[in-house]
Amino acid sequence: MHGLMMDTPLLISSIARHAEKFHGDREIVSVTMDDPRHRYTIRDAVRRSRQLANALARMGLETGDRVATIAWNDYRHLEIYYGVSGSGYVCHTINPRLFPEQLVFIINHAEDRWICTDLVFVPLLEKLLPQIPNVEGFIVMTDEAHMPDTSLPNALCYESLLDAESAEFEWPLLDERTASALCYTSGTTGDPKGVLYDHRSTVLHAFASVAPDVMNLSSRDVVLPVVPLFHVNAWGIPYSALMVGAKLVFPGPKMGDGEALYALLEEERVTVALGVPTVWLALLQYCEQAGKTLESLDRTVIGGAAVPRAMIEQFEKVQDVRTIQGWGMTEMSPLGTANTPKAGQEGLGDEERLDLATKAGRGIFGCELRIVDDHGTELPWDGVAYGALQVRGPWICSDYFKLAGAGGSHKEDGWFDTGDVATIDAQGYMAITDRTKDVIKSGGEWISSIELENAAIGHPAVAEAAVIGVAHPKWTERPLLVVVAAKGQEIDKQALLAFFKGKVADWWIPNDVAVVDELPHTATGKIKKIELRRQFADYALPE
Ligand code: ADP
Repeated sequence: MHGLMMDTPLLISSIARHAEKFHGDREIVSVTMDDPRHRYTIRDAVRRSRQLANALARMGLETGDRVATIAWNDYRHLEIYYGVSGSGYVCHTINPRLFPEQLVFIINHAEDRWICTDLVFVPLLEKLLPQIPNVEGFIVMTDEAHMPDTSLPNALCYESLLDAESAEFEWPLLDERTASALCYTSGTTGDPKGVLYDHRSTVLHAFASVAPDVMNLSSRDVVLPVVPLFHVNAWGIPYSALMVGAKLVFPGPKMGDGEALYALLEEERVTVALGVPTVWLALLQYCEQAGKTLESLDRTVIGGAAVPRAMIEQFEKVQDVRTIQGWGMTEMSPLGTANTPKAGQEGLGDEERLDLATKAGRGIFGCELRIVDDHGTELPWDGVAYGALQVRGPWICSDYFKLAGAGGSHKEDGWFDTGDVATIDAQGYMAITDRTKDVIKSGGEWISSIELENAAIGHPAVAEAAVIGVAHPKWTERPLLVVVAAKGQEIDKQALLAFFKGKVADWWIPNDVAVVDELPHTATGKIKKIELRRQFADYALPE
């Protein structure tokens, strides 16, 4: 027997309608390419997304068509999120920092009909143009005064396009399983793979992420996503922030600038900021050097890579800012776990609490977790046994776009293999030991590169650290520590290696230290291990 409840689809447009009605006056502040501090309200954003929807319909787009964006975090990008997805088209967010050949692959694979671009990326697209012949036109996200002289065909001005349209638009009543957005994984190996979100998965993910034990987002919050809108939908913030009516602050092109971020955080009274660990290095360094403290910030949500213990400690002890570590991936919309305390942990000492905070967190409702051994047998949740981490849930991809089962990550019983290796403790806190492909295999045993990096970062002379496996005649692989020295510091290799004593098992201690000026980063700000391994492929470890 079915229940007697309304069959109302979970649609992205319903978030826009709700936000406009209940939180219309809430501000959205953006740094943009042509305005250092643009301000308007949620009501304006939703109105303009309806104008965009009218324009796209006039351009002949049909349900399911892909409209790409290549842009920083600002209000126009947010309007495109709603205007495109709300109309039943697919908003394909492109990471501008990918290699040109990856960009070409992605645009062609997605069959993007139109591309909305920030001014700064116009020259990049001009270069790619001969290789993306199927794109019908480009919408430059600026006003008439800033329109560039461009060789891009059908280059329309975003503001003029909107000006010509009515704000009256009835969002279509779509099936909630209609595709809404598309994001390609960075593809550290092989071609990038497309993850196709739908309205239902997006709305459920937003419901889950605002919960108190996840991001605890409310209408009282001021949210600054440093995580880009092209990186897994900025972890769902465009949806969750509007769902609850939080004020949004978009940093535009200023994401990596510690001083500019600090000014935004303080002046806009930001309470929650989100990003990968690397971006916080710049902010914390700026605060330290300039002797500044973060007055309004209550918490940071950090994920996308392991959060160093020293960073959590600095946020907490120096800045009085709580860190919520999250773990997830593009394939998971992205949230899988969040690290927030449970009842009974009030009495934990500083050290124990920090130990716990360095874990990835506990599974949030809606994302099931399991760890399995090489034979697929489930491992115990004892915090010690580690194995392949697999997940299942309504916002986890069931396949990759146009790969029809060839992605190789889905198990026969429907679980998705994350490619991460993890432990889960008796309280349900999961800790990532490594990515399957980054784990160092020494004498048949595994060494966690993440744990070594975390320990290295704790040394005051180290600004950034990465550990990779280097070929070894006897042990197959041994760890090499690659570090960037902190400002004004010299690295004493022997002292640094001695620093690991007592922090990790003796046989885990790296065989050598290489000091570099800079570590290579991926387009999303993570350390690019694949590139490091290439750089150090012939590295001769000392005897
Ligand atoms: P990619 O880097 O492949 O584009 P994602 O941005 O989706 O993909 O990254 C997902 C991966 O990032 C996870 O599989 C995991 O290896 C890593 N990751 C994310 N959050 C954490 C975390 N809190 N701790 C350790 N690793 C993390």
